[in-house]
Amino acid sequence: MAAVRLQQGYCLREGLDVTLLERERFPRYRIGESLLPSPLPVLDLLGAREAGAVVREGVSVRGITFGEGRPAEAVYASRDGDRGDGSGTDGGRIAFGHLVDASGRAGVLAARQLRTRRFHDVFRNVATWGDWRGAAPVAAAPGGAICVFSLPGHGWLWAIPLHDGTLSAGLVADKHSFSAARQALGGTDAVYASRLRAVPALRGLPGGAELVSPLRVESDYSYTAERFRGPGYYLAVHSGLLAAAAIATVRRGEAAEAAVQAT
Ligand SMILES: Cc1cc2nc3c(=O)[nH]c(=O)nc-3n(C[C@H](O)[C@H](O)[C@H](O)COP(=O)(O)OP(=O)(O)OC[C@H]3O[C@@H](n4cnc5c(N)ncnc54)[C@H](O)[C@@H]3O)c2cc1C
Repeated sequence: MAAVRLQQGYCLREGLDVTLLERERFPRYRIGESLLPSPLPVLDLLGAREAGAVVREGVSVRGITFGEGRPAEAVYASRDGDRGDGSGTDGGRIAFGHLVDASGRAGVLAARQLRTRRFHDVFRNVATWGDWRGAAPVAAAPGGAICVFSLPGHGWLWAIPLHDGTLSAGLVADKHSFSAARQALGGTDAVYASRLRAVPALRGLPGGAELVSPLRVESDYSYTAERFRGPGYYLAVHSGLLAAAAIATVRRGEAAEAAVQAT
């Protein structure tokens, strides 16, 4: 979603018609709490809905139809499964000139259709995390700091103070060692608790703190794609902003698509 908003904000400023098809309804939970200063300048380009994008929430893109070697139409359905054959109120098809696939891990184009997504064994990690209320401040860390702790042989931990006063604490471990630890310790909760206890700077978390979220688990969230662009399409987040600039350049007639994609 971060990716698509960057791209839309820029495209709208360029006077292009933009339609966003989004599976979820907002607000919704998303991991990715911390923000480094480096993206801040590009975030100034945000404001897609406010700038006039057509936003359809609760519709899921089921497939992209190609014509003459480039994506031409998206078929979508409502979240409750209404097929996009024109018979339902929420399903439908939309034709377009350019497609920016910002579906993140779902990877509508890269993972499902083009099958260009690639994993690297080094990054086949599992993350498990939760939000704590009442956690003691991390020892020796400046207020509000994002902290990471190495756990040799067991991965690493993050501790991120969130806006509402809770602390997000997460464990990242290689999927094989995580699986072995789960077997040995009796479950994900036990692995998580054991690793938290191993970090003195967390001052014995949980201590008196309360876990106020589910203990969440994600795996296989690190990957790349063989190609980030092709005729008529771009994959975000890597190229979300580049996509917007490229589309605007082509639409203004300043360069041909093949030329902007070659740079
Ligand atoms: C465990 C973990 C910890 C992380 N911690 C951090 C952190 O501390 N800091 C940080 O900067 N980043 C963090 N990240 C990464 C961050 O969450 C992602 O980089 C970011 O969410 C990617 O943004 P995106 O816009 O590409 O994809 P997403 O945020 O995943 O957005 C994709 C959107 O596409 C929608 N979608 C998917 N399929 C369809 C479909 N078929 N039709 C319509 N819509 C669809 C989804 O609903 C979603 O809204 C973390 C990630 C993980 C897994």
